[in-house]
Amino acid sequence: MPIATVNPATGETLETYDALAEEEIERRLATAAAAFRTHRTTTFAERALRMNRAAGLLEEDEQEIARVMTTEMGKPVRQARAEAAKCAKAMRWYAEHAEELLADEEPAEYDVKDSGAAWVIVRYRPLGPVLAVMPWNFPLWQVVRFAAPALMAGNVGLLKHASNVPRTALYLEDLFRRAGFAEGCFQTLLVGSGAVEGILRDPRIKAATLTGSEPAGRSVASVAGDEIKKTVMELGGSDPFIVMPSADVERAAEVAVTARGQNNGQSCIAAKRFIVHTDVFDTFAERFTARMKALRVGDPMEEETEVGPLASRQGRADVEELVEDAAARGAAVLCGGARPDGPGWYYPPTVLADVTPQMRIHHEEAFGPVATLYRAAGIDEAVAIANDSPFGLSSNVWTHNGTEVDRFVQDLEAGGVYINGMTASHPAFPFGGVKRSGYGRELSGHGIREFCNITTVWHG
Ligand code: NAP
Repeated sequence: MPIATVNPATGETLETYDALAEEEIERRLATAAAAFRTHRTTTFAERALRMNRAAGLLEEDEQEIARVMTTEMGKPVRQARAEAAKCAKAMRWYAEHAEELLADEEPAEYDVKDSGAAWVIVRYRPLGPVLAVMPWNFPLWQVVRFAAPALMAGNVGLLKHASNVPRTALYLEDLFRRAGFAEGCFQTLLVGSGAVEGILRDPRIKAATLTGSEPAGRSVASVAGDEIKKTVMELGGSDPFIVMPSADVERAAEVAVTARGQNNGQSCIAAKRFIVHTDVFDTFAERFTARMKALRVGDPMEEETEVGPLASRQGRADVEELVEDAAARGAAVLCGGARPDGPGWYYPPTVLADVTPQMRIHHEEAFGPVATLYRAAGIDEAVAIANDSPFGLSSNVWTHNGTEVDRFVQDLEAGGVYINGMTASHPAFPFGGVKRSGYGRELSGHGIREFCNITTVWHG
């Protein structure tokens, strides 16, 4: 895949970039290692000052960087501005909380005595340069939710961003530099995915985080495993959205459309499989389909656009294939299902019913505005359908029955259970999945501690 800015609304290539030469990669690795030696000794207050400055700069740049993101990957510009604002908020959150999240821990006095020590503390020390392999779908947010905690913990970052968002990638490097982080604390490497293995095997790289597809995760995790380096994997998802009879069905249908359609349907935590109790199935299906059909599809630079084009020609072809396979095997297409004529990689909001396990879409992630509807006779069947997926990122449940809530929280195989709402990340709460959705957590105290050397200091 060439490193290039290609406008998904038109298919036009706006700019291509040369991948970094070997010597330049080497220079940047050396710069990162040198930067770490200094950055690790800075105080939390010094780091926080810079992180808050980065947040302020990002807010000033919000309009401009939103248009860059929309140009590169096609998300509606209003959603792009919201993404920039969310990044600034997360930066401020880590600036404020990192010190307390990484404060020394003192084990119980009884255990200290039992070990024969005068005192013991557990200290969170940074690991070193961390390689971040990131996707294009939230081109700022995915990076910031790694970079803010990493830099606050005293680590330094090297970003290998997706090849279709080079302008956003270069903006991020510039942002942290302007905010006052020393040269080498955060660098963008314009390289293709083929260069990742060599970089990851370099001894100066201490760990890696990857957000992206399962194949990319498998590849990076196996190289890191071979090198015995810590990784966090944030991979695909096919989150269930379960609606039970006690739910506010109207509200559930309204939120379901946002949960499926936001970011042009290209979100890992989008609700993708809608599992509806048979008592409310027809009402939900009718309301949901009508709202999906009514979404305004169009130029993502227009303020009122709700769904723009998919990010790439290949991405649209993948979605089309899943829908065609399902239709050929008997799924009912309640709306959408066929690409429009004309330029750009548009695909209409689509709802499929009568989905069976024989269809690819039952097991695979649909990375576009395509929803599947399932009918469940009761809670056992709802849980069984929800868990019948290789993925386990998050889940959504609509019910006002407390016993049902307990059951879902106990049994849903996912890294999140969102009740009477849709999954959304927040800096204070851990984010990540189980099963093929990956491992490790981002955000909150759990996220910042992932790339720390948790050190026991024992004093006799
Ligand atoms: P992708 O194709 O896996 O790409 C993600 C990143 O990995 C890109 O930087 C890509 O570089 C790189 N890459 C791809 N193959 C690689 C390999 N074999 N070795 C090393 N690096 C490799 O994914 P995407 O299409 O950008 O993003 C969509 C996927 O990301 C979906 O599955 C989505 O669910 C998932 N996602 C997960 C989360 C989460 O938090 N769990 C969040 C967002 C997205 P190139 O661009 O140069 O190929």
